[in-house]
Amino acid sequence: MERVVTIVGGGLAGSEAAWQAAQRGLQVRLYEMRPKKTTGAHRTGYLAELVCSNSLGTTLVDRAGGLLKEEIRRMGSLLLALAQECAVPAGSALAVDRECFARKVTEALESHPNIEIIREEVTDIPQGLTIIASGPLTSPRLSQALARFTGRDHLYFYDAIAPIVVYDSINMDVCFRGSRYGRGTQEEGDYINCPMNEEQYYAFVDALVHAERIELHDFEKELEQGVRAGKHPFFEGCLPIEVMAARGRDALRFGPLRPTGLIDPRTGKQPFAVVQLRQDNLAATLYNMVGFQTNLKFSEQKRVFRMIPGLENAEFARYGQMHRNTYIFAPAVLEPSLQSKKRPDLLFAGQIVGVEGYVGNIATGLLAGWNAARIAHGLPPLVLPRETMLGALTYYITHASEADFQPMKANFGLLPPLEQPIRDKRARHQAYAQRALQVLETFLARVAEEEARFKNATLS
Ligand SMILES: Cc1cc2nc3c(=O)[nH]c(=O)nc-3n(C[C@H](O)[C@H](O)[C@H](O)COP(=O)(O)OP(=O)(O)OC[C@H]3O[C@@H](n4cnc5c(N)ncnc54)[C@H](O)[C@@H]3O)c2cc1C
Repeated sequence: MERVVTIVGGGLAGSEAAWQAAQRGLQVRLYEMRPKKTTGAHRTGYLAELVCSNSLGTTLVDRAGGLLKEEIRRMGSLLLALAQECAVPAGSALAVDRECFARKVTEALESHPNIEIIREEVTDIPQGLTIIASGPLTSPRLSQALARFTGRDHLYFYDAIAPIVVYDSINMDVCFRGSRYGRGTQEEGDYINCPMNEEQYYAFVDALVHAERIELHDFEKELEQGVRAGKHPFFEGCLPIEVMAARGRDALRFGPLRPTGLIDPRTGKQPFAVVQLRQDNLAATLYNMVGFQTNLKFSEQKRVFRMIPGLENAEFARYGQMHRNTYIFAPAVLEPSLQSKKRPDLLFAGQIVGVEGYVGNIATGLLAGWNAARIAHGLPPLVLPRETMLGALTYYITHASEADFQPMKANFGLLPPLEQPIRDKRARHQAYAQRALQVLETFLARVAEEEARFKNATLS
């Protein structure tokens, strides 16, 4: 195969991918449409511009985001190293001077002998070895080409993310298991149900309607009217739950909180309203709040959703969000190596694969760039072990349930359970992190050996 790769999008993922591929000997053609054409959120012509917060999140290795950072540091991430050079004081978080960061990334790529930066919009999927990293605000013309490639049902333009609760934090003395009218695949019922009486329901609705919301961008105003988001018909015209609640005090109990077909075994009666939680991962450590897509501020979600009986101490693995976001239905379209199932020389990276968060986007860029180089050299692409945070994320997006696939960020609930369960949360997270880094070290050593053997063989 020709040792050239075309990368579409010079954001976080595309820039990291370009560096990784170039360092491994590929000629990189990196297409970035800015500053000629903008996205509505970016402000400059720099590569790797941070569109919003200047924080890349925690550096503590026993937190999910910190573990992911440590993994990509060990894998040789350029963007993480440059972020550290531009760090500003932010406690245990890695926050950066955004101008310094984006400038350094741009200079590093501009001065790399194997990288050519082309300031043009790409309107069709290029032929040959390619990485698409055009981000959540992919230009409309490229989006159309992607929809033709993946099939219209497999490309989305909005996130409608409901919060995810950690199972261990749900009070099962209050909640009960069950499926509506007893229809379900598991004997005890597929859902965890949080029952509400009349007083609890109206107090909750009042709090929801008055809670503080995240301000929408101009390109997101249609969210207030309902948008198509996700695969399941449930998401057709889906609205933020607080908007639905504001349309009438009873709207929710005739909508996502309807209690019909659900009997609380403790009272033998149908509750006034029910919040349903649906299992979100195979290990059953995470539960999704059904119908709770929302634009409330994260602190308000914590305050208001903890009013729900059984969720008084809920720990949120992810908060709800609704925003403009172009992403593919990765379970049908991608392999865990980030290659397209249909076209193995086409890879995807960044937010478009359904991974959330700056560091997650950098991480998938790193993997896609490295894999592009391996494909060009005739080596099998890497699939990271599931015990690592990056391996767990790529596994999740490529194996998630068809019904309600939504973008995901790093969290410990994605990792396979420990052999010996640990009750204490801090100790459990430390054990997850320790296992992840040990598994990664062994994996990287094996890959280094394989690549060294390959280098020697091609030189001799
Ligand atoms: C408004 C907004 C705010 C966000 N805030 C945060 C936050 O605070 N924290 C966080 O962790 N995550 C945030 N995200 C989510 C996400 O992590 C970031 O958007 C991140 O930058 C995504 O990385 P990426 O490389 O996938 O895409 P981007 O960094 O957006 O890079 C994609 C690049 O592709 C270019 N491009 C698009 N189409 C074409 C085309 N056809 N041809 C050529 N170039 C093209 C774009 O100009 C852009 O430079 C936010 C997203 C949005 C939309």
